[in-house]
Amino acid sequence: MIKKILIANRGEIAVRIIRTCKEMGIKTVSVYSTADKDALHVQIADEAVCIGSPKAMDSYLNMSNIIEAACQTGCDAIHPGFGFLSENPRFARLVIGCGLIFIGPNPETIEKLGNKSEARKIMIEAGVPVVPGSKEIIKDVDEGKKLANDITYPVIIKASNGGGGRGMRIVRKEEEFEDAFNAATSEAKACFGDSDVYIEKYIEKPKHIEIQLIADKHGNVIHLFERDCSFQRRNQKLIEEAPCHMLKDDIRQSMINDAIKACKYVGYDSVGTIEFLLDKSGKYYFMEMNTRIQVEHPISEMISGVDIVKQQIKVAGGQKLTLKQEDIKQNGYAIECRINAEDVERNFAPSGGKINFLHIPGGRGIRVDSAVYTGYEIPPFYDSMILKLIAFAPTRLECIKKMRVALEELIIDGVKTNIEFHYLVLHNKTFIEGKYDTGFFEEFIKELEEQSGELI
Ligand code: ADP
Ligand code: ADP
Ligand code: MG
Repeated sequence: MIKKILIANRGEIAVRIIRTCKEMGIKTVSVYSTADKDALHVQIADEAVCIGSPKAMDSYLNMSNIIEAACQTGCDAIHPGFGFLSENPRFARLVIGCGLIFIGPNPETIEKLGNKSEARKIMIEAGVPVVPGSKEIIKDVDEGKKLANDITYPVIIKASNGGGGRGMRIVRKEEEFEDAFNAATSEAKACFGDSDVYIEKYIEKPKHIEIQLIADKHGNVIHLFERDCSFQRRNQKLIEEAPCHMLKDDIRQSMINDAIKACKYVGYDSVGTIEFLLDKSGKYYFMEMNTRIQVEHPISEMISGVDIVKQQIKVAGGQKLTLKQEDIKQNGYAIECRINAEDVERNFAPSGGKINFLHIPGGRGIRVDSAVYTGYEIPPFYDSMILKLIAFAPTRLECIKKMRVALEELIIDGVKTNIEFHYLVLHNKTFIEGKYDTGFFEEFIKELEEQSGELI
């Protein structure tokens, strides 16, 4: 049994993990950078340890300082949250090497699945459909061009170790290939430390559908249905919903079966998510597996009634899953809006500052996961997501209406946010009908620009 956990993260996800630990009677230790000394996750944990200066490399990515803090405070496990060290196999190995439990899958699985090109090979072996593409890393431009011609344009060049929507370039014709290849490799090198890229067929206007999975160390795997994460800006999710109301039952079932098959094939043993792209003809393809808790996990918790972090902690401690698939009933509809501190009018550029006044909406079916408070100063060093607004209602339309009311009530004064932008999306016809795909964001922005042009 795990008795004390160090949370190697910050912001809303650290707060969210601490809350579940408290419910489970588990003691918590937060870590923080000097820029985060007043952060909420520091205040609500049982103990807190400063691990370095503001830059992530010096603190939230500083493996030895984090592990030392865990050992000194007598923790028996480390929860990595998402981002930062959550999908770093070296960190997971170090944690285990120091006699601590890593709250995530075994390091071998993280390593295999974290490399997208490697993960594709494994899925092909497992008999799961993958996006047509290259079998190996692309060595140079000539090899890439040859492959792209075989795959047929458009193609997408992707960083093998990519994440957070970065390191990707769409190429529509051969003349553009070289520039795109060079841009993708240098972005990959800068963001992820190596320049490995591979090529996939670019699927036009797909839906991004993902399956939430929970596996234990005894071979049991269950799922918590699907999420539709097609509302994306530059390959980064902004709004997610569960379930996907456009998905036909036979396709849903087939995706779920494939996700479970993949999970069993790789010996997966924690919570995780398999991401698929669904094309216009109803064909779907494996895209990647995220071997961690995801930003949008609350919507699956709402429709299934399962606390995913609680399950993650239990299976990490070696407990058998006591939840049975047949006991998990899907109920209602949930939507999440990611509220970012950013300036929508200046191309969504991150925008920090001090929160002078905060009003959080509430009421039946509203959940807010955040780490901000009145008087809080948003440090400029980290991700701009400051709050997740989640609405839950019996039907999709009721859920949309509830979200609009909550967005109207939410006040974050002092910093620029995308609250109003979300409000506009939730009034858009295509969104309300649920007929949007990953290309919708661009169309929506164009529509907005035309409308404001008319108003002027
Ligand atoms: P999710 O699939 O959970 O929605 P995201 O792609 O939005 O994940 O990423 C979750 C968080 O982790 C974001 O804050 C993102 O910026 C960050 N992130 C994801 N992958 C990486 C990575 N490889 N390196 C740095 N940050 C990352
Ligand atoms: P990340 O690790 O950054 O989350 P993913 O491989 O999950 O990267 O891709 C993120 C997003 O990029 C997808 O949700 C999708 O919108 C887009 N994308 C990725 N690969 C393709 C593809 N082959 N065709 C079309 N869109 C893609
Ligand atoms: Mg992804």
